Amino acid sequence: VKGKNNMSWDDVKYARRREEMVRRQIEARNITDPAVLAAMRKVPRHLFVSEALRHKAYEDYPLPIGEQQTISQPFIVAEMSQALDLGPSDRVLEIGTGSGYQAAILAEIAYRVYTIERLHPLYIQARRLFDQLQYHNIVTRYSDGTTGWRAQSPFDAIIVTAGAPQAPESLIDQLAIGGRMVIPVGDQYAQDLIKIIKDRRGVRHFSLGGCRFVKLIGEEGWRAG
Ligand code: SAH
Repeated sequence: VKGKNNMSWDDVKYARRREEMVRRQIEARNITDPAVLAAMRKVPRHLFVSEALRHKAYEDYPLPIGEQQTISQPFIVAEMSQALDLGPSDRVLEIGTGSGYQAAILAEIAYRVYTIERLHPLYIQARRLFDQLQYHNIVTRYSDGTTGWRAQSPFDAIIVTAGAPQAPESLIDQLAIGGRMVIPVGDQYAQDLIKIIKDRRGVRHFSLGGCRFVKLIGEEGWRAG
């Protein structure tokens, strides 16, 4: 059954929940970047979780996506996206594709998104969804992302969506002059969201506050196991 604008009634229901999510969780907490707000209003977050969790997709918390991983809380996605200061010509690297939701938000704002995932089932699932939703400006890769993607570097922005003991040097190396990076830094229980800005004189670190992510596993993150 189709409602107005050729949307199904389900689409209408989720569009309403999405609008409510943006107002209560995002705008109310000082996210002001118009491009970030527009992206959060557009991307169908409910399609990035399993059918059983769809009804919770617009709630104010992370959700399991399988493989002991999670899709981040909507506010964290907005906060990290805003911190990257993205423009329409920017090329962005994401470490930790997961559900693909964060990559889709970035793809609405930036020119191209390169995203790396180390767990094969999540990589396959996200790829399929990007195809289905026609995100032709997202490039996926199945590998350990802690060493970045040198062939495609330098990047205008880098986002790490898993927590690490420190920002991997190889990622900082792959940041362009004028580039921005956000990464949760800390132990496996709690991290600080760190923003790194690179200019001609070097890099500067800023803290954006506390957060809690799953572990970044790999060569320059934590060892697996
Ligand atoms: N951005 C995701 C959140 C994913 S949770 C989203 O929007 O849903 C973190 C993800 O990072 C997990 O899928 C995990 O498998 C992945 N990950 C952890 N270590 C990694 C590494 N070294 N390289 C690439 N991906 C990694």
